[in-house]
Amino acid sequence: MSKFHQTLLIGLPLIVISFYGGNTVHPAFYFLSGVLLITALFRIVMGVIKIENNFFMKSWIRKEGVQKVALTFDDGPNKETTEKILEILGQYNVKATFFCIGHKIEEDFETIEKIVAQGHEIGNHTWSHSYFFDLYPTKKVKEELQHTNALIEEATKRENKLFRPPYGVTNPHIAKAVKTLGLHSVGWSIRSLDTIAKTKKELIGKVEKVSGGDVILLHDTMQITVDHLEEIIKIIQRKNLQAVTVSELFN
Ligand SMILES: [Zn+2]
Repeated sequence: MSKFHQTLLIGLPLIVISFYGGNTVHPAFYFLSGVLLITALFRIVMGVIKIENNFFMKSWIRKEGVQKVALTFDDGPNKETTEKILEILGQYNVKATFFCIGHKIEEDFETIEKIVAQGHEIGNHTWSHSYFFDLYPTKKVKEELQHTNALIEEATKRENKLFRPPYGVTNPHIAKAVKTLGLHSVGWSIRSLDTIAKTKKELIGKVEKVSGGDVILLHDTMQITVDHLEEIIKIIQRKNLQAVTVSELFN
C-alpha cells in the first residue's frame, strides 16, 4: 500500500465522523481530527512535489553502499548541446542515462541514435513535457508514455522500463500509468539546478557533495552544463567514484 493510500485510510474516516458525528462526538475529537487532516494535506502536497518522498509510488532515488553514481541528463535531445555532452562523456569514457522527451526524439532521431551508438542509456521523460502533464488523466499519461517508449525502443532495439516524471512531480494518475505499463520511476538525490544556475559555483556547489550511490540530475539542453561537465566528471573521479547508467547503479 502506498503512503498516499495509507493517508486516505486515516483521513477519510475522520472526515466522515466529523460530518455525521454531530453532538455525539467530543469537541476534542474535532480539534484532533483537524490537526490530523492538516498534517495529511501537507503530506499529500509534499508527496506531489518531492519525488524522493516516494508518496504515490516508489522511485529510484539513491543506492546505498556502492562506489558508483549515475549521471542523468533530462529534456533532450538537443542537436547542439547533447552532441557536445556526448563528446565530453566519450573523452572520459563515462556512461550516462538520458531521459528524453518523445516529440524531441521524433524531431531529431539522429541524435538519439548517436546516444545509443555510444553505449548510453535512454529513459522516458513523457511525450510533451507539458506544464499541464500533472493534470492529465491516467489514460492520457499512459498514451504519452507509450508513444515515447515506442520511439525509444525503435532506437535502442530493446524494451524501455525507465521513466522520469517531469519536475519530479508525481500523483495518483502518474503512479497508476507507471504501474500499468510496468515502468520504473527514477528520481534523483542531487539536483544540480543547472536550469537556473548562472555561474560555475552555483552549478558545481551541489555536485561537490556527491558520494557513492547518488543520482545526479542535469540537463543536456543547457550550455552551462556543457561548459562545466568536465569539472563534474573530475569531481566524481577525484572521489574514486565510477559514473554508470541508472540501470547499472540499481541492478
Ligand atoms: Zn524535464
